[in-house]
Amino acid sequence: MPHVAFIGLGRMGQGMAGRYLDAGFSVAVWNRSKVKADELIARGARWAETPADAAQGADAIVTMVADDEASTAVWLGEQGAATTAKPGALAIECSTVSYQHALDLAAELRARGLTYIDCPVTGLPDAAAGGKLTLLVGAEPADLEKARPYLAPLGSTIRHFGPVGSGTAYKLINNLMGAIQIAGLAEGLAIAEQAGLDMKLVLEAIQSGVAASPQVIRHASRMVARDFSGATFTAALRHKDAAYAVALAESLLPEVPLGRAAVAAYAKAKVAAPDEDEGKMIEIVSRAKDAKH
Ligand code: NAP
Repeated sequence: MPHVAFIGLGRMGQGMAGRYLDAGFSVAVWNRSKVKADELIARGARWAETPADAAQGADAIVTMVADDEASTAVWLGEQGAATTAKPGALAIECSTVSYQHALDLAAELRARGLTYIDCPVTGLPDAAAGGKLTLLVGAEPADLEKARPYLAPLGSTIRHFGPVGSGTAYKLINNLMGAIQIAGLAEGLAIAEQAGLDMKLVLEAIQSGVAASPQVIRHASRMVARDFSGATFTAALRHKDAAYAVALAESLLPEVPLGRAAVAAYAKAKVAAPDEDEGKMIEIVSRAKDAKH
């Protein structure tokens, strides 16, 4: 039975780890706060005391944590997975990290004899729990082949962008475009409200018009209703992704004004409500108006 270590059981990781149990893998799990592992343990996962404990004997180690700092801690910390991983084990980083972090981590883990692939994902927590994520892979072709059996439980759509780092580059581009769209939607809706437009009509027009993307449609009615329940993606994570994306963009292009504006907008949302839904951006925009008058 293939043995997987799954590290990071937040909104996404819980569902992803569960997919390995459903698929019959032997699964060891670790999360900074143990309570999030309870359901998986009840379903048969082994609780590991540290990332190092989880990685012991694993054929593949999959991580799904918040950011570069968390990724560094769980892989390379004193009790990190790299300290016990067996040579040749697969290191599959699914977290959205910065481009530079993906390259540095890959180099470090390869030096320790691991096979690294970057595999950030798109899809919300329900897609994670249902094995319907899209996997954005950066890997050598042979390494991807080796990893396929460990990717299959997570999702069947694999987009292989090229060598290590390229999956992360695309993921950051994707999420920066999303950040710009969501911030733009918040501004558009706030303007419509202040202009006294019929918001029911505005929503109908947005949802059937050419300015709508799936991202815009996902947030429009919730923003108008100020319904931020059941956060699937937080303001802090959106800010992190946009900031990582702009760092990459600035190494490639002379100017990225829209990206920078999105980072600035999400920096405010992160201060106001870091762990709440990213759609709260509309409150930031509306509040700015209240402060002005
Ligand atoms: P989340 O619910 O906020 O969970 C974050 C996870 O990271 C938790 O397991 C948390 O542990 C852990 N963590 C944070 N800081 C840590 C540290 N310093 N050391 C160790 N562990 C740490 O986030 P999520 O929504 O599952 O997202 C996870 C990753 O997937 C992020 O990179 C995100 O950008 C990406 N992503 C999210 C979505 C989405 O729709 N939510 C979609 C695609 C990709 P605790 O439980 O102890 O806090």
